[in-house]
Amino acid sequence: MSHARAVVIGSGIGGSVTAMLLAHAGIPTTLVEKNRRVGGSCSGYDKQGFHVDIGTHMFCRGSKGPLGEALRRVGREGSIDFRRTHHIAELRFPMRDGGRNVVDGVARVSVPSDLARMPKFVFDLASALHLSARDAIKAAHLFARILTMSEEEARSLDGITLEEFVTPYCEHAGVLGVFGFLLGLYFILPYWQVSAGEAIVSFQRMARDNSLSYPR
Ligand SMILES: Cc1cc2nc3c(=O)[nH]c(=O)nc-3n(C[C@H](O)[C@H](O)[C@H](O)COP(=O)(O)OP(=O)(O)OC[C@H]3O[C@@H](n4cnc5c(N)ncnc54)[C@H](O)[C@@H]3O)c2cc1C
Repeated sequence: MSHARAVVIGSGIGGSVTAMLLAHAGIPTTLVEKNRRVGGSCSGYDKQGFHVDIGTHMFCRGSKGPLGEALRRVGREGSIDFRRTHHIAELRFPMRDGGRNVVDGVARVSVPSDLARMPKFVFDLASALHLSARDAIKAAHLFARILTMSEEEARSLDGITLEEFVTPYCEHAGVLGVFGFLLGLYFILPYWQVSAGEAIVSFQRMARDNSLSYPR
């Protein structure tokens, strides 16, 4: 007879899921949390009529991602109410006139979460950044490569940073900034610290699953 017991320290999304899987496997489990609320970075609180998220804003693939998979394993699929969102972010750029001088106003570019709307995003980005035809073609080439490379090829880029991956395609500072920001988002790290391979695999899965969601 097994007397295994488990103690999980920390009730963030990692500890909570681990404790859930252990308990589901029949192992008596104690989950210890030092704060008054559970959830770690993936939690929030109400203050003066506002709901404040501590850190996490969206779980990239909702029920299709790892959290959905963990819930399926314990027979609790659907117990988290995932709210679909169709944009990752909205980028804002200063408006410029024909002579490239900054004028009053802001150009807004929505970053979609699904593959089908990505080409329009690249076109809108090129216009907002006032890319030359040459740089626009380079940015489109870069984006096409990110979306179409095989997972095996992406994994071969695990050892280089996003900055090292993007720069040979296009040295335009705006292009590097936008791609670095978007692909670095998954890690909350600057693009010079993020693995290109990890970032590309994460982005591809998000775009293909088309299930970007917030847990309610
Ligand atoms: C600003 C921001 C935005 C983010 N946005 C996203 C997003 O959009 N999508 C996404 O997928 N991810 C996002 N993340 C990342 C995501 O929030 C984290 O990767 C994830 O929540 C980390 O979970 P965790 O369980 O590893 O750690 P944590 O959430 O940090 O949990 C650790 C827990 O352990 C507890 N603890 C620590 N030490 C002890 C101790 N000695 N005893 C008892 N308890 C202890 C802490 O109180 C905490 O509750 C974001 C992160 C940040 C900071």
